[in-house]
Amino acid sequence: MSMKEFARENVTRLEPYIPGFQPNPEDQVLKLNANENAYPPSPQVLEALRSHITGDLRLYPNAKSVGLRQKVAEVYGVNENQVFCANGSDEIISIIFRTFVPAGESVQFTYPTYTYYKTQADIYDVPYRYLETGDDFLVDMAAYLEQPTHLSFVSNPNSPTGTLVSRDNIEECLQKYPGLLVVDEAYIDFGGVAESAIPLINKYPNLLVLRTFSKSFALCGMRVGYAFGQPHLIETLDKTKDSYNIAYLNQIAAIAALDDYDYMLAHARQISEDRNWFGEELAKIGFTLLPSVGNYVFVQHPKMAAETVYQQLLERKILVRFFKQRRVAEYIRISIGTHAEMERVLGAIKEILA
Ligand code: PMP
Repeated sequence: MSMKEFARENVTRLEPYIPGFQPNPEDQVLKLNANENAYPPSPQVLEALRSHITGDLRLYPNAKSVGLRQKVAEVYGVNENQVFCANGSDEIISIIFRTFVPAGESVQFTYPTYTYYKTQADIYDVPYRYLETGDDFLVDMAAYLEQPTHLSFVSNPNSPTGTLVSRDNIEECLQKYPGLLVVDEAYIDFGGVAESAIPLINKYPNLLVLRTFSKSFALCGMRVGYAFGQPHLIETLDKTKDSYNIAYLNQIAAIAALDDYDYMLAHARQISEDRNWFGEELAKIGFTLLPSVGNYVFVQHPKMAAETVYQQLLERKILVRFFKQRRVAEYIRISIGTHAEMERVLGAIKEILA
């Protein structure tokens, strides 16, 4: 008897998103494959977490993460009703798909970009279109206007490349774009913040800006993301989110991280400096790299296939990211660790090329 197919047809066909591999801590691998922060979260975050591990965990958390929204609003100079929070920006992306795409409408994003947009489009059975980037991999906002779709995503800076689009270019697009534009600023604190689209939310009713505590605030493990937009968009997202979507301790951690904003800034600055230095060192030994403002670089060497560099680094217990996909398979993406870690990577790369 053949097995009954229970899943929706588009799910049966689905190619699931492949997250960066998490090796066992015992293996002592230098993990530079998922753009995690090189430094631990602020000591204030750890202290806040410790002091909130109490019997109150029997209670549900605040359903709308009101305390966190208030803190985000205060720090970013917006109104509380312009802020949405969820379990990582990944969850916000998923909620956007289930909320803002009527049947028959489609979505567009660049190629390459964060592959989770495509995964979510496939899960929700929304047709998608890639906006192919040129040889320089730079994102062209004008491309979004050629055949405007109901929903669009742009990762700024982009992943895996690290390149940045200016706020002016985003605004020019918004002036003509009839759909909802989502600007995903997961990595913007590492050098792109002057181009953030957050100041545009008051002017454009069709803009959502995504941020995350995972990267610059070093809280990947807590899964908290936040979004900015006009109240009509935030109210709509609130209708479709899960009831108590952010765990109590995660809300506490995110608030404490914002309370120590200077700690985040200092470490983001250190990482940007090390990225620039590491990039210059790679260029000296013949690597081609894209101008990155993220906590990662996207690089290739003319004398050695990217997959070989990836494998050889792995043999030396250094894990970087290799995406086996069109165009991007010619490159590896290396997250920026501490200065000492990047010295080690550089040494290993020189050995591999020798
Ligand atoms: N957007 C981009 C561009 C990312 O690279 C990531 C992390 N992989 C995310 C969003 C999701 O981040 P999180 O769910 O941890 O907030």
